[in-house]
Amino acid sequence: MDFSQRFGVIVIGGGHAGTEAALASARMGVSTLLLTHNIETLGQMSCNPAIGGIGKSHLVREIDALGGAMGRATDKGGIQFRVLNARKGPAVRATRAQADRELYKAAIRGTLENQPNLTLFQQAVDDLVVENGRCVGVVTNMGLRFMADAVVLTAGTFLGGVIHIGLDNHQGGRAGDQPSNALACRLRELPFRVDRLKTGTPPRIDGKSVDFSVMEEQWGDNPLPVMSYLGKVEEHPQQVCCYITHTNAQTHDIIRSGFDRSPMFTGVIDGVGPRYCPSIEDKVNRYPDKDSHQIFVEPEGLNTHELYPNGISTSLPFDVQLQAVRSIRGFENAHITRPGYAIEYDYFNPQDLKHSLETQHMPGLFFAGQINGTTGYEEAGAQGLLAGLNAARLSQGKDAWTPRRDEAYIGVLVDDLITMGTQEPYRMFTSRAEYRLLLREDNADLRLTEKGRELGLVGDERWAAFNAKRDGMASEEQRLKTTWVRPKTPEAEAVNALIEKPLTHEYNLLDLLKRPELTYANLAEAVALADRPDSAVIEQMEILAKYAGYIDRQADEIEKLRAAETTALPVEFDYGQVKGLSNEVKQKLSEIRPQTLGQAGRIPGVTPAAISLLMIYLKKHH
Ligand code: FAD
Repeated sequence: MDFSQRFGVIVIGGGHAGTEAALASARMGVSTLLLTHNIETLGQMSCNPAIGGIGKSHLVREIDALGGAMGRATDKGGIQFRVLNARKGPAVRATRAQADRELYKAAIRGTLENQPNLTLFQQAVDDLVVENGRCVGVVTNMGLRFMADAVVLTAGTFLGGVIHIGLDNHQGGRAGDQPSNALACRLRELPFRVDRLKTGTPPRIDGKSVDFSVMEEQWGDNPLPVMSYLGKVEEHPQQVCCYITHTNAQTHDIIRSGFDRSPMFTGVIDGVGPRYCPSIEDKVNRYPDKDSHQIFVEPEGLNTHELYPNGISTSLPFDVQLQAVRSIRGFENAHITRPGYAIEYDYFNPQDLKHSLETQHMPGLFFAGQINGTTGYEEAGAQGLLAGLNAARLSQGKDAWTPRRDEAYIGVLVDDLITMGTQEPYRMFTSRAEYRLLLREDNADLRLTEKGRELGLVGDERWAAFNAKRDGMASEEQRLKTTWVRPKTPEAEAVNALIEKPLTHEYNLLDLLKRPELTYANLAEAVALADRPDSAVIEQMEILAKYAGYIDRQADEIEKLRAAETTALPVEFDYGQVKGLSNEVKQKLSEIRPQTLGQAGRIPGVTPAAISLLMIYLKKHH
């Protein structure tokens, strides 16, 4: 590397946000530098080695559809795959994979090392170079200066990180890693709103000390799912079993006995924790009537005995952790390999960001990942990809791009953060999307890959696979529409055997597929359909046929709302001038400064009536 080289984009941090950011920027042909504390921890999973799950797999598929690394790495590192909600509708179906931590990391590192236009360098960043209010580079702890058109910060839980175990605490970015204090201090001098959040992790357990025979087994799915649109089952490593056990009344008594030494209950921790991933002490405290909570006992990898007991994240003192763990069925003789802990860290109010994830107060500086108040690898990866993409576009002198809420969960995520901010770690759920029938994990490629190709994010292999799928869908739809089943033929008799009332007139196969009793497979069998397409094409045919009515209705709704969505609100708009708006609404709008009417409408407390008043005012005066 030529140290005097000016880069297009510099990314700080090689976690989930940083790696996707660096890869996206480099894929777009922009010279990119990824600076991170330690090359060995590129793509490290700080907590549970699992990717996906409800709402989250949707983000992984979107990252994948835009050429990102997370889905591919999961296919190479996943040691157990399951489709959650498999019996429910396609909108809420979600793939989840338990990963081998080392294989996952190796896959991410391999992708980074082989990415053209990307330079990796191991160094902590201590300072930003700011010229005329613009971020134009960084300074590392060795005093090296690197200059760039745009900088993406993805420091995760490291800024001012403090680790708590009981009433003991020490500084750290996560267990075993130094925090980023110099950079945290520097950022606190800049005009960003900073606050504290916290998250936690359970103690890890040596599998050799565990009695699995008293636990419930949980195997992955068969047939095995894949995470990436390019994924192949053959890429998966060996698959393993997970187990289920439970806490009990005795465990809860032990946990309660530690409350007076809990950093959370004694006020030592100020930061708010993730509501949907609470610590075990939080659960025991909040639900005093429950005397059992489920624990998923998940392997950390193929070449280690370490286990991740999912459900007992804790920052209680170590002696309490040990007693509590040993009161659990199967863990009576458990050896804890690493204590559980909580970590408090700085995050920035995401309302100070633009939809591109560029900071409003400092052009050229982008924020992505945990520092924006989110939790989770998938949420971080999604933001990273978007920030990397927009930093690269800034460097290329092009306008920013962000998917709309009706195009992608990435759009929902960013819009939620910017519009509403967050006071607790934000996690994605399918319920956060108003158009979830359109935003399915099975169609992220159909929603985004073409755009990704146009943006320069999608390579030839993915583009070819995508076109093959799209062409396959078009020709299969055509075939189904033009293949007729006429009453009193052998085909009709075979179909009649599958449905309640016999067919009275002719139907094409697409119409028949709309019936809930008929699947593609049994229909194809009944009419002896030759040359069946790929399973991904069949899945799309079934969803499009069975949910056509709902999908069309959502598409109509989106069309109507799009007008409001794109009506711009001038940055300097004086909300005090609009008659009829309550003081509360005026105050919120003046504070948040939404960019469009649609965004204004999603601010809590801004009513549809207030939006109508704004619309009328805008029509009259602009
Ligand atoms: P990280 O993955 O933290 O990556 C940050 C990267 O930046 C690291 O590589 C770091 O070395 C580097 N870095 C930081 N500062 C600098 C600097 N100044 N210079 C150079 N490099 C720097 N998520 C959940 O969904 N559920 C959970 O229960 C959960 N529990 C967690 C428990 C713990 C203890 C921790 C630490 C995290 C937990 N998470 C959990 C969060 C999950 O790990 C993060 O959401 C995710 O890793 C965020 O990705 P990121 O890229 O933003 O940051």
